[in-house]
Amino acid sequence: MRRTQYLILLAGCALASLSACKSTVRPFNRAQDGHTLVRTSQERVSLKQPCRKYPAYVPDSTVNGQLVPERIIRVNYHILNSSDTSHAFLAEIGTPYVQELTREINKKFAENIPMSLPAAQGTPVLPTRIRLEIAPIRGMFWDDGVYYHFDDELYAYVHKGRNRNNSDMRVIKKYAIQPDSVLNIFILPHHPDSVKSTTYSAGGGGIALGKAIKLSGIITTGLPPSEFAGMTVHEIGHIMGLGHTWRYSDGCDDTPHHPNCFYPGEPPCDSLISNNVMDYNHWQQAWTPCQLGQAHRNLSRRSGTARSLLKRNWCDPLPDYNLTITDTQVWEGEVDLFGDVIIAAGGHLTIRCEVSFPQGSRLLVQPGGQLVIDGGLLTNDCGLPWQGVILGCKGRDCGKVTLTEDADIQYAGSSDRPD
Ligand SMILES: [Zn+2]
Repeated sequence: MRRTQYLILLAGCALASLSACKSTVRPFNRAQDGHTLVRTSQERVSLKQPCRKYPAYVPDSTVNGQLVPERIIRVNYHILNSSDTSHAFLAEIGTPYVQELTREINKKFAENIPMSLPAAQGTPVLPTRIRLEIAPIRGMFWDDGVYYHFDDELYAYVHKGRNRNNSDMRVIKKYAIQPDSVLNIFILPHHPDSVKSTTYSAGGGGIALGKAIKLSGIITTGLPPSEFAGMTVHEIGHIMGLGHTWRYSDGCDDTPHHPNCFYPGEPPCDSLISNNVMDYNHWQQAWTPCQLGQAHRNLSRRSGTARSLLKRNWCDPLPDYNLTITDTQVWEGEVDLFGDVIIAAGGHLTIRCEVSFPQGSRLLVQPGGQLVIDGGLLTNDCGLPWQGVILGCKGRDCGKVTLTEDADIQYAGSSDRPD
């Protein structure tokens, strides 16, 4: 502020009385404080499109990318056996095995690698911001999230032939635990009759079915967990809505088609080897920005099936997660926040989609700051109270809020005093 402006402001304060220039805060009142932004129905439809499109969810360094948090997918494991326990994968082996498998999967999530296909050279390597956590039933101290079932009818996995059952849901329906909020992973041995056949491959295989995954080959081959981490991550990719890339349309421009070679070998497998998570290959560890955008869109959007599998850690605030906005920002994805938002003087924030604020938090619009809720919804995704929009004022000069008719604010009105 220039010295002359400062002097004028001081003089104004003195004239009007000291209390007129006092800094205050008060809850935003839509009828009294809200400026209306008029949109045609066509504009409303087109402006909501970003909420559905993946670019707003790519975990990059853009404004929207910075709003994509780490997501924790809750999982449990079911290990199937026949009643004679002949498929030796009992608790003393099975439980440490799946715990190690979870660690290996999280290593893959934590170490996104550059795409190996020549046509994908230079594709940005972004953090996945995804990891798994084994989720026992809350409050059951004996539960470790790993379950053993002895069932002669349903214990086996068959992916080929007359008795093929890999897409059969019965074992899931019978044994799934917390099926609405936890990804249930079933580990099944290949059926001994299938294994005897020379045309049946008893190696690793898997299938994603709704909110569950069936894996085979783990018990039969005896290979370590690191060998099955990629296969499991691939199936989790399907759970998050991703498709195969090698000759299909997966909705991404950065996943080129290729011959789907598992290992390096004879041409074309001497050079056209993919290491992408959604192909069949030994690595299954490279994620493109588009794939991550698609995955996070389905984890962030309230209508996404996979969202229900997340640890809901955005209901309450976390320390050091407040955001201060001093520039112009447009939020075009569905967002879960972990702290307050402060729009400082000169800051201009437009919200177009649903944004969840943690319990007790607030969106403070300081004098000289502007908030536009353009068809968006400000809420707490868990139905808990938050303070809502708070106006900061200097005398009569308050933060400005503009809303479209279809914009809404829910669960605002925490008893916490806005100070
Ligand atoms: Zn697949």
